[in-house]
Amino acid sequence: MIVIMKPGVTTSQMSNVIARIEQMGCQTHISEGEERTIIGIIGNGRPLDREQIQRMAGVDRTVPILRPFKLASRDFHPQDTVVKVNGVAIGGRQLAVMAGPCAVESTDQLLETARAVKEAGAHMLRGGAFKPRTSPYSFQGMGEEGLKILAAARQETGLPVVTEVMEPQMVPLVSAYADVLQIGARNMQNYSLLHAVGEAQRPVLLKRGMMCTIEELLMAAEYILSHGNDRVALCERGIRTFERYTRNTLDISAVPLLKQLSHLPVIVDPSHGTGRWELVEAVSRAAVAAGADGLLIEVHPRPEEAVSDGAQSLKPARFAALMEGLRPIAEAVGRTL
Ligand code: PEP
Ligand code: MN
Repeated sequence: MIVIMKPGVTTSQMSNVIARIEQMGCQTHISEGEERTIIGIIGNGRPLDREQIQRMAGVDRTVPILRPFKLASRDFHPQDTVVKVNGVAIGGRQLAVMAGPCAVESTDQLLETARAVKEAGAHMLRGGAFKPRTSPYSFQGMGEEGLKILAAARQETGLPVVTEVMEPQMVPLVSAYADVLQIGARNMQNYSLLHAVGEAQRPVLLKRGMMCTIEELLMAAEYILSHGNDRVALCERGIRTFERYTRNTLDISAVPLLKQLSHLPVIVDPSHGTGRWELVEAVSRAAVAAGADGLLIEVHPRPEEAVSDGAQSLKPARFAALMEGLRPIAEAVGRTL
């Protein structure tokens, strides 16, 4: 970081700033120009809190050199991270497709879906047992019963299970059944939950908050990584804009941008990204073409009966057609399905 001092800065202001920088465990390099004095901070390897320096007397402004996220940044980790989940890799040459219902509703519903998505070539099974619903009157999920059904479906199909955890206290319970802990959009900035999944040492699928920037998403990933849990996959699931024809606006540019800024794998969720099943196939193709490492897709055997997100859920046959249609796109960008 570089600190640009105000014109006419006093010696005591200079020494206060230098003392504060040294207290932070850093060294300084002073450069006195005709008009301005500039202090270069030689860091201790960690991004600095600019605010502490910025509001000191005599300081005009600070200019960061490092990005505020370090562990998530490609600058310090040039090679792609491949997150390994019970025999499935997220981030390698092979795409990772996670499919299943929005919510686990019953043993029959989940097993029927799990068999169908496996048959169509999905690599993991998704399904919510704890659901973050806008209304307290909507179905809240089957809880532990739902987790048991997910585990039974894994047992039968061999598909690893991705499911959401909403509270820090629930991390041990959900970890006992799930292969990947999903952090939902609404919880992306729930820092105590991020600490808890960081401690859990389980693969995490971190969804972008619907009103969060890319930098905020990477800072949320940084929380998990800073606990030594390096198995994090990022998920673009659409953000809120003024557009009303779609549930969210899927930010396709987030895919190549995240891949540029970070070594973490990037998954796209075209179901929540659009809210409309008719758009899911085209957006899935766009995501793969843009360099996504995988997809998270809602599939329900009878979407008209779904207790949540039926409008964006694909019937199994449509999901199978989507997978077939993805093959040539995957091949064109050097990936396999
Ligand atoms: C989900 O995956 O079912 C879900 C609730 O997603 P999001 O957190 O992205 O809304
Ligand atoms: Mn859903």
